[in-house]
Amino acid sequence: MSLLVLDAVTKRFPGGDGPAVERLALTVTPGEILGLIGPSGSGKTTTLRLIAGFEAPDEGEIMIGGRAVARAGARDFVPPEARGVGIVFQDYALFPHLSVADNVAFGLAERPADARRVRARGVLDLVGLAAFADRYPHELSGGQQQRVALARALAPAPALILLDEPFSNVDAELRAELREQVRELLRTTGTTAVFVTHDHEEAFTLADRVGVLHAGRLEQLDAPEVVYHRPATPFVAAFVGDADFLAGTVTEGRIATEMGTFPDPHRLPPGTRVELMIRPDDVGFTPDPDGDTVIVRRDFRGPVNVYCLRLPSGRRVHSSQPSTTILAPGTRVRAIAELLHIVTFPVA
Ligand code: ADP
Ligand code: MG
Repeated sequence: MSLLVLDAVTKRFPGGDGPAVERLALTVTPGEILGLIGPSGSGKTTTLRLIAGFEAPDEGEIMIGGRAVARAGARDFVPPEARGVGIVFQDYALFPHLSVADNVAFGLAERPADARRVRARGVLDLVGLAAFADRYPHELSGGQQQRVALARALAPAPALILLDEPFSNVDAELRAELREQVRELLRTTGTTAVFVTHDHEEAFTLADRVGVLHAGRLEQLDAPEVVYHRPATPFVAAFVGDADFLAGTVTEGRIATEMGTFPDPHRLPPGTRVELMIRPDDVGFTPDPDGDTVIVRRDFRGPVNVYCLRLPSGRRVHSSQPSTTILAPGTRVRAIAELLHIVTFPVA
């Protein structure tokens, strides 16, 4: 059974260039954590707002827990408060004049006061903030506010929780820890979640499956490892990591490139021209005065140095090396590519 279904959902805004979201189709199973990634303007927030009920689709249908909550052209639109969905906004949107406990109890309005208090305490305990119940939002750090927002969304025990860029306002050092806590919390409460972020690493660490949006279209929806190693499109390849491409031609069952030949998993007809994806972890090199490849640049990234290399054709590839390997731009090298996964795209 799917907890959430989006069936060919399209949303247009007046004056927009094209649809903000176009024929979006996806399903989320109970307990699953789905991450949606994409650059700014790709339709992430619109997708969440459609699921939450703050926007209505122009085409298609949305179902939550087996019930149609929005159908283009139909009258049975279910408003946000009746969808049983918890929402964590990017800026947390905590009520500044309410204490932490009252913020968390806010979504429990129909219950008796005692029950609200007990539930709010319980959820605050879950997020490790029981001791902060009587404080006000401005007395908390960004990470703590984030957890209060999460507690507030979880308090009514929604089947589905939506998070928009949940960690973008948290310090980088805290982010990894908070991610882990949120993941644990979603797992222990069995909550299904859809979160959006522009940060693919965040999506990779937190999500069971990752969807990649590009100009309103879902280009791929797969496990993080599949998205990274077997990207469905050149856009996905470049968005989820550094990707370079070599021109290749299928010859005798292999793909011939200027960095050597590689197996052709797709058994394309001889002579077919492709672009072969190559990642920095696939490329090694050794200094060689007679080498045909030149170091263009070194980017120090802390744990690794990423070298930009210029091949004889003028194409550039990147090579990830230990942070202690230091070679100057202009150095001639011999480059080798060892590909674990062969990913090719047709030449446009
Ligand atoms: P993201 O969250 O991925 O940055 P959005 O979903 O916010 O992207 O926006 C997708 C597209 O829809 C953008 O082109 C944006 O300008 C447009 N858009 C979003 N909301 C509105 C709105 N309320 N009115 C008009 N255009 C909008
Ligand atoms: Mg957004």
